[in-house]
Amino acid sequence: MKPSAKLHRIYTRLLTAYGPQRWWPAETAFEVVIGAYLTQNTSWRAVEKSIANLAAAHCLTIDGLRAVPEDELRTLIRPSGYMIRKAAALKAFVAMLDRDHAGRLDLLAAQRTATAREALLRLPGVGPETADAILLYALGHPVAVVDEYLRRVVTRHGMLPAKAKYLEIQSLALSTFAGEPIESHVRHHNEFHALIVEVGKRHCGPTPRCAGCPLAEKALTPPPDAIP
Ligand code: SF4
Repeated sequence: MKPSAKLHRIYTRLLTAYGPQRWWPAETAFEVVIGAYLTQNTSWRAVEKSIANLAAAHCLTIDGLRAVPEDELRTLIRPSGYMIRKAAALKAFVAMLDRDHAGRLDLLAAQRTATAREALLRLPGVGPETADAILLYALGHPVAVVDEYLRRVVTRHGMLPAKAKYLEIQSLALSTFAGEPIESHVRHHNEFHALIVEVGKRHCGPTPRCAGCPLAEKALTPPPDAIP
């Protein structure tokens, strides 16, 4: 089976096992952006505390984040750690929006995917995973988010070598839904990333716990009528 077909089978298997995840857990696209920064190197529970602080201080909007002094912002996001670096990075994001897109997220979203991705990657505190999470979940672009959970699944199931680079894994994930209309591409990548995170949390950690995992090899064996 081709790696892209195998990955598609994994997606179907996870969707059947866990159901739609309906990510991202946020009220607005801009809140998704904030969450994508805050979730770096910390748990989502810690992010929720910071988000609650930001909401109480009316800082979950572009205007609110622009207005809040940086030292106050650090205090608000303290629960999610790295507050100095993350506060500066969030301020830099708003500065980029103001400078290049009239302070509007929708104008950044209207850029071509490659252009928006390059703009994001030029910002401090934004690596490929954060850029792609913002592109997919906040800006609605058809990209695949590559994280450690996806790396483990594709390498442990023999689709790519253990040292595969980010773009190799992303290319495989993108090929899984190739040829579909852009809307379903976005929807599938949205669900796919969320489902991979779920199986990663439940089973595919640093040490795999394959017993009971919906992706255990037996479950992935193609049905007899699919074997040529
Ligand atoms: S826990 Fe095992 S079966 Fe599940 S995804 Fe990881 S390697 Fe595959």
